[in-house]
Amino acid sequence: MILKDEAIILRVYPYGNTSRIMVGLSAAHGKLAVLVKGSQRERSGFLGQYDLFYTCEILFYAREQRNLHILRECCPLQSRSALREDWRACAAASYVAGVFDLAMPFGPAPHGLYGLLADTLDRLATRTPGPAFLPRFELLMLQELGLAPNWDACAKCRAPLHGDNGLRLDVAHGAALCEACSAGRGVAVSAAAAAALRRMRAGHPPAALPASVFREVRALMGGLLEHHADLPGRAREIAFQVLAAG
Ligand SMILES: [Zn+2]
Repeated sequence: MILKDEAIILRVYPYGNTSRIMVGLSAAHGKLAVLVKGSQRERSGFLGQYDLFYTCEILFYAREQRNLHILRECCPLQSRSALREDWRACAAASYVAGVFDLAMPFGPAPHGLYGLLADTLDRLATRTPGPAFLPRFELLMLQELGLAPNWDACAKCRAPLHGDNGLRLDVAHGAALCEACSAGRGVAVSAAAAAALRRMRAGHPPAALPASVFREVRALMGGLLEHHADLPGRAREIAFQVLAAG
């Protein structure tokens, strides 16, 4: 069966002497691995048609029984060339693409993830963001994957969590709790950090955060990612360092 879709390229690696495999997140078919046969041959029609962080229109032969499909045609829709000139934005984009590559299984994906990835890469290609950009991205991604807690109500007693009843995050269970229900479990979330998380969840552009709030939000997202998505902490650390260096 031949299928048509749009995909954002997350990773490209060699296959044999002349071919490559590209891993991408597609708009309609989720995460895909596609064999690009003969792509390294001198006269391959695929040369220059795809690369990391590109959005491409792809026509592929879907092999239902296999995870590896076969690319028939590929046409770049957006190359995000700025990411090839700005090394800090490129490092952040690499981290973002790596998160999608590692945290998501192949196959159908929650609908909002494609838009989140496109929007995140577009923003990085437009201008190098500040460090608050990354925890905002992580929060939105965890939400789309269904791995973020419900921040609005205590997971136990359902009391609303934006009042004075405190907010604690039980990282291991991915649950937000009121002070009384937490019985000392989890980490306390300050009112300033809770407010910053609310702004991020509402999709507001990343605002500069006071250093202490930034550190807190960064640690909270790091804890959730570590427990619920199997991610290498090292790549994350580098991406944060690079954006903070600006
Ligand atoms: Zn409670």
